[in-house]
Amino acid sequence: MSVTSKSPAGNPPAQVSPEPHATNFIRHIIDADLAAGKFAGRGWGGKPGAAQSHAGKSADPAKIRTRFPPEPNGYLHLGHSKSICLNFGVARDYGGFCHLRFDDTNPEKEEQEYVDSIIGAVKWLGFSWDHDGESDLYFASDYFDFMYQAAEHLITTGNAYVDQQSADEVRLARGTLTDPGRNSPFRDRPPNESLALFHEMRDGKHAEGSMVLRAKIDMASPNINMRDPAIYRIRKAAHHRTGDKWCVYPMYTYAHPIEDALERITHSLCTLEFEDQRPFYDWLLGRLADGGLLDRPLPQQIEFARLNLEFVVLSKRKLIQLVEERHVSGWDDPRMPTIVGARRRGYTPEGFRLFSERIGVSKSDSWIDYSVLEDCMREDLNGRAPRRMAVLDPLKLVIDNYPAGHEEECYAPNHPQQAEWGKRAMPFSGELWIEREDFAETPPKGYFRLFPGNRVRLRYGFVVECAGCDKDAAGNVTAVHCNYLADSKSGTPGSDTYKVKGNIHWVSAKHAYAAEVRLYDRLFKVPFPGSRRGREAAPSGEAETELNFLDDLNPDSKKLITAYLEPLLRDARPEQQLQFERHGYFVADPQDSKPGAPVFNRTVTLRDSWTKSQH
Ligand code: ATP
Ligand code: MG
Repeated sequence: MSVTSKSPAGNPPAQVSPEPHATNFIRHIIDADLAAGKFAGRGWGGKPGAAQSHAGKSADPAKIRTRFPPEPNGYLHLGHSKSICLNFGVARDYGGFCHLRFDDTNPEKEEQEYVDSIIGAVKWLGFSWDHDGESDLYFASDYFDFMYQAAEHLITTGNAYVDQQSADEVRLARGTLTDPGRNSPFRDRPPNESLALFHEMRDGKHAEGSMVLRAKIDMASPNINMRDPAIYRIRKAAHHRTGDKWCVYPMYTYAHPIEDALERITHSLCTLEFEDQRPFYDWLLGRLADGGLLDRPLPQQIEFARLNLEFVVLSKRKLIQLVEERHVSGWDDPRMPTIVGARRRGYTPEGFRLFSERIGVSKSDSWIDYSVLEDCMREDLNGRAPRRMAVLDPLKLVIDNYPAGHEEECYAPNHPQQAEWGKRAMPFSGELWIEREDFAETPPKGYFRLFPGNRVRLRYGFVVECAGCDKDAAGNVTAVHCNYLADSKSGTPGSDTYKVKGNIHWVSAKHAYAAEVRLYDRLFKVPFPGSRRGREAAPSGEAETELNFLDDLNPDSKKLITAYLEPLLRDARPEQQLQFERHGYFVADPQDSKPGAPVFNRTVTLRDSWTKSQH
């Protein structure tokens, strides 16, 4: 079996293999590195550090090291789950370690709340950074001292200088893709002068924006990222971990390679937009290793395509807008593409890991159909969710010949393929709830459910024959009448002599648990929210025009109903996953459920109803 990911540009569908641990270009690189003995003799000092803390130390117990490096400035989303499964998965498969590193070098936006939620999300996905007594949870801000010393080293070796041009001047002198940049008038100032100014920057003697430290590389490089990028800037802001200690902070492009190197990362996996940064990554680490500050072998940056999912927005800015403008109830709204939202929706870690295997990794951007993710959740839930009966759109069924006041039990398997899960008892009585759509006064062609004169089996119960219905003044059906065949009870001898085509679910009216059920669906009604793509055939090559993505919200993404559930569902634990037969997978909401009174979220229907209607 294979699944396809569609390209909106109309490219042929990319085949992605669902085999567990299907090989990919990243695994090929790792295989080649290991075969070449690239990491033989690589020391590990037990924790991140500069050259002297690793060089000559005992061999690293980790065959490879990868890392997941979130900025703690928001909640993790479905895209991050790809990166988490990839980094932790590849490390696990190669006898390596994966670090969880908070990339908290930007003082302004980071908060403890996000740190906690990210830790929770990675654990929930089933991964751990504790390896053989070593806990690989790190904060990039712990490396500020080293980063500062490394900057001093670059200055003294003539590889960096303090530039006092204004931001505008720097921008104008940078050049374009076709024109080379111009050297700053400060570029050739003596290292001593730069060093003194850099110290003054650190000591708070200069205003924000008045100067920056820049790497001295090549203003004529065809790669604009190599045209003397800024590596340190002045920011008089308190940091969530280092407080007021610093008023200079490293730029991300400078900090990230150093973080990788100090942690002895072997393979630094990142998304494609960092491809143009790789020359700087290598330049920087090479200079620091030459200067004896870092130990070789140095980490290698490898880029892969980010996850793009149809019907979903993953941009942090847009997610914030959804929450702040209350289009959703919060970051953990079950319709949000965040990990906390998906969890509350009833998505499972196993489903995410399966999804990650199935979509694979590649070097080129593509869009994954949302149904691929939903199928992974269905596949996982199918095996783990006990079956229950639930009537979502109730209509009364009266069994006219059932003994008045009588009750009995019917027995239903908890799972059709897991006999060892046993059976449960369901109360049966003379008045039941059935699904409104399971009755038709005048049956359409091929309709096998209840209509006057027809027989159906009440699932795990009796065969009944429809006798007619009651209607109100407006002609709406208010109740259906039937007679039961007393010797047809499922599981009793001879019950299978009744051959009927229809088999419908039910709940005893007297015993039913009337519960709030939320029917969630996709948050957006089009595959590319906020884009003309897929709506109007834009001439190819035309720049994509941004429309308002909020106009694409699906007005039917949340429907609240009161459903009648089999009484056992009163005992559902928060986050317990269940299949409501014929309807789909549901989960007891962890926030709004009360003991003995759970409310349920629909995770996913049993079948995909979108692919047919939308594509
Ligand atoms: P920001 O715009 O704030 O940088 P971000 O989504 O890149 O947002 P990070 O916290 O920097 O957030 O991401 C952590 C890691 O997750 C990075 O290594 C990044 O490459 C990866 N990542 C983020 N989005 C995706 C995605 N859609 N698919 C795969 N990986 C992703
Ligand atoms: Mg980022």
